[in-house]
Amino acid sequence: MRVRFILTVCLGLLAAFPCGCGQEDRPDQADKAKRPDVLIDSDWPNVLLISLDSVRADHLGCYGYDRETSPRIDQLASEGALFETSISASSWTLPTHASLFTGLATSIHGLVDMQHQLDNSHITLAKDLKSAGYAAVGFVSSPLLQPVFGLAQGFDGYYRCLSPVPKDEKSIAANATSPTVLAAVNGWLSQNTHKPFFMFVNLWDAHFDYTPPAPFDTRFDPDYRGAVNGRGFLTDPRINKDMPERDLEHLIALYDGEIAWVDAHVGLLLDMFKSAGLLDTTIVVLTSSHGTAFFEHDLKGQRNALYDELIKVPLIIRYPQSVPAGKRYAEQARTIDLYPTISDLIGMAVPAVMGRSLAPLFKGESIDTRGGIETALSELVVHGQRIQAIRHPQRKTIFFLETDGGIVFDLVADPGELSAVSDAESPVVKGARADTVWTQKIFLAQFRGKYPPAQPLSGLPPGILEKLNALGYVEGQLPAPSDKP
Ligand SMILES: [Zn+2]
Repeated sequence: MRVRFILTVCLGLLAAFPCGCGQEDRPDQADKAKRPDVLIDSDWPNVLLISLDSVRADHLGCYGYDRETSPRIDQLASEGALFETSISASSWTLPTHASLFTGLATSIHGLVDMQHQLDNSHITLAKDLKSAGYAAVGFVSSPLLQPVFGLAQGFDGYYRCLSPVPKDEKSIAANATSPTVLAAVNGWLSQNTHKPFFMFVNLWDAHFDYTPPAPFDTRFDPDYRGAVNGRGFLTDPRINKDMPERDLEHLIALYDGEIAWVDAHVGLLLDMFKSAGLLDTTIVVLTSSHGTAFFEHDLKGQRNALYDELIKVPLIIRYPQSVPAGKRYAEQARTIDLYPTISDLIGMAVPAVMGRSLAPLFKGESIDTRGGIETALSELVVHGQRIQAIRHPQRKTIFFLETDGGIVFDLVADPGELSAVSDAESPVVKGARADTVWTQKIFLAQFRGKYPPAQPLSGLPPGILEKLNALGYVEGQLPAPSDKP
C-alpha cells in the first residue's frame, strides 16, 4: 500500500493532531515564555504565508496555463492581487527561504549551501512579528527546512510534518506530506487562542518524484501506456534531454498532477481558515520557493541554473481589507519584497532590508522603480560556480562570477531565453550593463558587510545527510555527519 493518501482519506485525517509532526523541533521555548501576554492590538490581522515547492508560475491556471491544475489557487487570485512576474532569490529552497524570512539577497545573508546555518542575530519576519505580540508558528514539509539550518528562528512552534516512508519506497522524494501538514495546522488552529498569529505553511509535494496520488496521477494524461511513471526523476538515466517527447509529455502531466494535488490542499487550508472565521482577517500570501526545469535548457530539476523556469514563481496576496480583489500587477516582485510587504500591510514599520514594500500598489500608488530597484537579483552557488541573474522586466543578464562571463537575453523578443544577444552595442546589452553596474556596485555594495555571515554547521545530524542525498541535494562537498570543519 502506498503512503500517499487519496483526498477523501486526508480529509478524515484532518481531525487528528499532531499526526506525525516533529514535536522535537520546537525552538525558542524560552523566548515563548517572554512573549508579552498583553498584545498591542488583538485586532491586527493574522498572517498566513504559504510557500509551495517547485511550482512554476506558468503551470497555474491564473498564470495562463491551459490545464486546470489550480482551481483553488485561481480562486485565491480572483479574491486578491496577483503579481504577473515574481522572481525567486535562488533556484532551490534553502537560500530562498532565508531570503523570504530576512528580506536579503542570498549572498548577503550567506545561507547558500548546506554547510551553513542562518546566523541567529538576523532579524526575521517571525522574530519581528513575535516582538510585536504575534504568536509565530511554522509547519514545514521540505527536508531542507529543518531547524538545523537556522530557519526556525523566531517561531514559537516549528513543526516538521513528514509522513512515514513505506518500506517499498526507496526515496522520501516519492512521499506525500501535504495531508500531514494540514492535520497539524488543523490541530493547532483548534487549540490556539492567541490573536494575532503568524503561520508559515510549506507544502512540498510538487517537488520530484512526480508520483501524485489518485486521482491526480491520471488526471492530465490518462491514455499514456509507456514506461515513465514519475519515479527516479533525478537518478533514472532514461529521463534525459533526449528522451522521447511522448514520455516527457507524460512526465510533465504527472508534475501537473502534483500541482493539482497541492492546489487541493491549499484549498483545504483556506477552507479551514474560512470555517474558523479567520479568512477575511488574515493576510494570505502564497508563493513558491522556486520552479523546476524540464530540459528547456537541457537541464532537469532545480539548483542548477537561473533561467526563468527555475526562478519565476507565483505570488498572490489576499486581504480584503486593503488588497483589491482580482487585480493583476505587472510590476516585478521579488522574494525579498515579501517581508516588507507583510509588515506594511499590517501597519508595522517597514524593515530596512533589501526588498521594498509592494503594498502602495494596492492603494493605487506607485512603488519606487528608480535606478535599478525594478530589477530582481537571483543567485546560486553550485559546483564551485557562483551564478548571478539580474532580471530587468525586459532583459536578463546571467553572470558566471568565477569566469566573469555573462550572457544577456532580450526577454521581450525571446522570453524563453533561447538565444543570447550577441551585439554588444545593442540597447538590450547597454541596458543590461547598467542593470549590472547598479546591482553589483550599488545594491549589493550598500548591504555587504552590514549583516552577519551564515555560520558553519558542525556537521549535519545523523540521518539528514542520507535523506538529502536521496533528494539529490548533496553534491559531494558536504561533510559527513561526524566531521568537524
Ligand atoms: Zn525546493
